[in-house]
Amino acid sequence: MDHTAFGQSTVLGYPRIGANRELKKAVEAYWSGTIDAASLEDTAAGLRAEVWRTLRDARLDAIPSNTFSYYDHVLDTAVAVGAIPERFRRLGLSELDTYFAMARGVDAEPALELTKWFATNYHYLVPEISPDTVFTANPVKPVSEYAEAQSHGITTRPVLVGPATFLLLAKGDDPFARLGDLVDTYARILSALASAGVAWVQLDEPAYVADRTIDEISALHDAYARLGALTDRPKIFVATYFGDLGDALPALLRTPVEAIGLDFVAGPSNLSRLAAAGPLPGKTIVAGLVDGHNVWRTDLRAAITTGTTLTALADHVAVAASCSLLHVPADLDAETRLAPELRERLAFARQKVDEVVLLGAALRDGTGPAPVPLPPAPETWRRTEVRARLAALSPADRQRGDYRARAAAQQERLQLPPLATTTIGSFPQTAELRAARAALRAGTLDADGYAQRMRAEVAHVIRLQEELGLDVLVHGEPERNDMVQYFGEQLDGFAATDHGWVQSYGSRCVRPPIIFGDVARRAPMTVAWSTYAQSLTAKPVKGMLTGPVTILAWSFVRTDQPLAATADQVALALRDECADLEAAGITVVQVDEPALRELLPLRASAQKAYLDWAVGAFRLATSGVADGTQVHTHLCYSEFGEVIGAIDGLDADVTSLEASRSGMEVLGDLAAAGYRRGVGPGVWDIHSPRVPSRGEVTGALRRAVAAVPGRRLWVNPDCGLKTRGYPEVEAALRNLVAAAAEVRAG
Ligand code: GLN
Ligand code: ZN
Repeated sequence: MDHTAFGQSTVLGYPRIGANRELKKAVEAYWSGTIDAASLEDTAAGLRAEVWRTLRDARLDAIPSNTFSYYDHVLDTAVAVGAIPERFRRLGLSELDTYFAMARGVDAEPALELTKWFATNYHYLVPEISPDTVFTANPVKPVSEYAEAQSHGITTRPVLVGPATFLLLAKGDDPFARLGDLVDTYARILSALASAGVAWVQLDEPAYVADRTIDEISALHDAYARLGALTDRPKIFVATYFGDLGDALPALLRTPVEAIGLDFVAGPSNLSRLAAAGPLPGKTIVAGLVDGHNVWRTDLRAAITTGTTLTALADHVAVAASCSLLHVPADLDAETRLAPELRERLAFARQKVDEVVLLGAALRDGTGPAPVPLPPAPETWRRTEVRARLAALSPADRQRGDYRARAAAQQERLQLPPLATTTIGSFPQTAELRAARAALRAGTLDADGYAQRMRAEVAHVIRLQEELGLDVLVHGEPERNDMVQYFGEQLDGFAATDHGWVQSYGSRCVRPPIIFGDVARRAPMTVAWSTYAQSLTAKPVKGMLTGPVTILAWSFVRTDQPLAATADQVALALRDECADLEAAGITVVQVDEPALRELLPLRASAQKAYLDWAVGAFRLATSGVADGTQVHTHLCYSEFGEVIGAIDGLDADVTSLEASRSGMEVLGDLAAAGYRRGVGPGVWDIHSPRVPSRGEVTGALRRAVAAVPGRRLWVNPDCGLKTRGYPEVEAALRNLVAAAAEVRAG
């Protein structure tokens, strides 16, 4: 067999939204009815062609297709195997509108659930699989994208989520039990691809870099043994990423698949596993040597060393980025305002392709690239005072006083009723606020004018909350473009990009800051807003900060020191901010950690170490305040699983969390984990435009009071209100305050 046919260099996927978010603009225009399906399809075809040409012109010799998506590649795979739930089929919409109905919901039907893709900030739509889901092969999209690329003279390798991972990511009544049926459907898809002339197909199985049972691993083996035994198929490349494959690696190696992709960046132990597996006749190893999940340039010499070791093990070694380049911005060349000493250390998707090509050629020719070692980091990126402070920390710096004493001191100061009412922080980001921010950026509004508008909004939000009768108020966060970017812009050691957009879900894109150096606070970041808000009311106003773990999770983080060290640097800056808020008369501070679960390692063996440093960083940020200052935290999900113990470890006085979907179950779980402090289970699901009735909230609170005494129970929505409109916010908060009063009286 000619294994070199795979090629020498590839990527598993590439940014698909367009350099200027053209896809976002086009799908949103389609949703709002300003363009029709044909015009949306035109834009999409243009974006696909651009990606293929870019990769070809970069001289990548194995180019993927079907990595384009109108919304999400897991949803695309669901459509390819016919897993469209009946509740969407019966809407009788066009194929495209059925697809968007699954992604976004329609009046009559809520969307598929959205959840995060492994340890990234990308979100996929969770397939719904039931025992009577009828899988049917629908290879139209991969086949037509392949043909489309051929028409541009470019031969590609269609990509699909693999059958085992697809079912492991699905929800329903034991989806994984359907693997046999699903593999039959994949067999039909592979046959259709072969008929279309496809030589290689890529099936992604990243679910196997997490802990899997022996049965799940042997099912993976059986699935690929079966697909591999088909005579009518393209060659199969099974791609894995985000970690090491563990025991699934030998299982996969025992199948007839022609190529296996391994991530040597996030899963360096793949190398020793592979060596232990012995010689691999007939196999191609696609080596993920370029970090696809971060923005730093590759250490080419180290990558070549790994690649050379691999060539001794496998018949053929090709080079790839460690995972799809979907998770990094498109092109560094678009950034003209980054400092040169930072820029020269960065590589976005386009630059990573060059690295892959260069490494592929070096392995083929047995020559190393001219070693261009990175220059040492500029002295100005090191902050000796920050390092000295961190070195001098002791456990006492992460420890507050006894909770009982804190609770008593806080109650004396705040005089809150049982079932105190509050919100999570943000109020609606209105069109006027966004316009003011755009005008500030464009230079048509000066800083004073901008601040004036934001202050007017704060005053409005305070008046509204007083009128509604809430107990602990917020300033509403009108000045924040984004809860991480806002802090990134004010801290040393962070850089912002102009065009560094990354898809988060569907048409939503984010521009994560880059943490390149030691983190230091130049000046107070939030104090002026909080004290202004506090000056307008006699009720307590919460100071609002984003926690260290969330700041890391939603940034590109330096890799030259452990994440824990960077988290502690951010924590010190937040600790100083807490102290300044306290000194300015703020009595309640909330430090949000909605991403605490996001950075959780996929393998259980690494989770404790992570949770230890994550909790430690939060405590470093929050434990400097007096007993009488109340610390809140907010977590944004309802299935806590492995992090439930860590929530107690945060030692916040009050924790607000999502509960409206799980119906207060979380309270029992928290109590079982030993949590005995204040808790605010969200009683309004703000992700839905529905206004909860007073009766609904009362019902939820009655269930909550059965599990948590009223003086520890808080009444709040389950997240910030920035995506909602004022009419629903007012109506819902009115019901919430009335329900709290009713249950309090009872
Ligand atoms: N304080 C933030 C807000 O209300 C929290 C957002 C979040 O949890 N993602 O917007
Ligand atoms: Zn939230």
